Amino acid sequence: MRWKGRRVSSNVEDRRGSGAKVGGISIIGLVVAFVAWKFFGVDPQQAYQATQQITAAQNPSSNAPQQLTADQKEASDFVGTILADTEDTWTPIFKQLGQTYVPPKLVLFNGIVQSGCGTAQSAMGPFYCPTDQKVYIDTSFFKDMREQMGISGEQNQTELSRQDQAGDFAQAYVVAHEVGHHIQNLLGISSQVQQAQAQGSRAQANQLSVRLELQADCFAGIWANHNQQRTQFLEAGDIEEAMDAAQKIGDDYLQKRSTGQVVPDSFTHGTSQQRMHWFEVGLKSGDLNQCDTFKASI
Ligand SMILES: [Zn+2]
Repeated sequence: MRWKGRRVSSNVEDRRGSGAKVGGISIIGLVVAFVAWKFFGVDPQQAYQATQQITAAQNPSSNAPQQLTADQKEASDFVGTILADTEDTWTPIFKQLGQTYVPPKLVLFNGIVQSGCGTAQSAMGPFYCPTDQKVYIDTSFFKDMREQMGISGEQNQTELSRQDQAGDFAQAYVVAHEVGHHIQNLLGISSQVQQAQAQGSRAQANQLSVRLELQADCFAGIWANHNQQRTQFLEAGDIEEAMDAAQKIGDDYLQKRSTGQVVPDSFTHGTSQQRMHWFEVGLKSGDLNQCDTFKASI
């Protein structure tokens, strides 16, 4: 995937390395980790690791403003470029609808973060908070995609020799999916779904969550379609790489990996098959009207 040399969005908020400002005593870190564990069901060990990161950040020797490493700088340039691409995709689409696109802010963080939706931990993965209209990403999730989920772009012959670019389109797809949730928020889809969920059964609420997630995948496909027309950024193997990511981040795959069996009732993101399908619908059509996952039989 080509990404260097394009506009970098000014809507990236880099909070990495700001841990020292979070609190003066490590007990606060412990409380934060405990809250993450209690309310988000984060693995206690991971919560503990987050505490450790905060403790490390409070070490007097690290009180000086932290310089970003070359890798961290590269990650923010990458995410900022993809965010700018989504802005340049959705602005004209909203204009056609007679609306003004208000882009989301994107927060980069390390370990743990305060969001408008509460305290969040990187183990939860990237997420969108509708309250403050911000996307939150711990760039270490990209490393996990590569190292733990095996999304390394191994289908991508053109990128294999360049370790730093392996899996980059899969990462861009994650950003575009989260921006997809922002689009749903702006279009009022999220609030309609929330209302319907409050009235339905738990199984119905889950079904609606799945459709919301699949629509965000379809919106990510629309981004890929429009961005390709605008910048010709795709290289051979990129689409396969995104499909591989959609497959591996599908709920059935994650559940199989963790429990050895699939429990369809608790699906919230859709199966691997469904995710691949809806990304492709957006990619091929580039058309918002094709992404009505609520009407379609899935
Ligand atoms: Zn999502």
